[in-house]
Amino acid sequence: MRPVGILGGTFDPIHFGHLRLAEELAQQLDLAEVRFIPSGRPWHRDAPGATPEQRLEMVRLAIAGNPRFHLDGREASSGAPGYTVETLAKLRQELGAAQPLCLLLGADAFLGLATWHHWRELFKLAHIAVAQRPGFPLQAAQMGDELRAEAESRMSSDPRDLQATPCGKVLACPIPPLDISATSIRSAVKAGKSPRYLLPDAVVDYIQTHHLYR
Ligand code: ATP
Repeated sequence: MRPVGILGGTFDPIHFGHLRLAEELAQQLDLAEVRFIPSGRPWHRDAPGATPEQRLEMVRLAIAGNPRFHLDGREASSGAPGYTVETLAKLRQELGAAQPLCLLLGADAFLGLATWHHWRELFKLAHIAVAQRPGFPLQAAQMGDELRAEAESRMSSDPRDLQATPCGKVLACPIPPLDISATSIRSAVKAGKSPRYLLPDAVVDYIQTHHLYR
């Protein structure tokens, strides 16, 4: 069964780093679909510059026209912080025990995984595919002891492993490095500079129209 990919994020705003990650991993892992799940009110960082509704809308604009990409608004539309482990548990219920699920993470997110709520449960719910990200070398030395032990015992280099079992594998995936972050886009807009070509034009237009990140 082809895995369903899950890409969570603040998406404040969504940019080509996110979109290229999703496209690369959809191809490399032969994903049936990628679900973009914008976070609600995040527990681990400052309030985003755009509202959940605005972040949802920017994702909607960015993925329009890609039949493999879908928007899942469940976290953004709930007022709660939204823990990934809870979202995955709901998806597991909806999609059934046999459906392979694959959480897509950039290297920075993966390296911080051991700080996530009930993080070890994640491996019982989904596989994890980790994409390279400039500035965050994916090396054992960068991981804490607990994450390293967990990752090493689960590491696979064959995408077919993700189809053979519903959850539990970790796969590192090389992707073309794009040194783009939402933080740098917000800073550029705040400084009156153009963020064009770092994110889709439709999202640039939305940011301008709604006076975001000023
Ligand atoms: P911010 O700068 O506000 O922290 P961000 O650009 O890191 O935001 P998020 O929405 O926090 O974006 O990221 C969602 C997911 O996408 C995370 O797993 C993150 O690692 C990944 N990601 C974001 N940008 C890139 C990139 N340029 N290359 C690879 N992965 C990325």
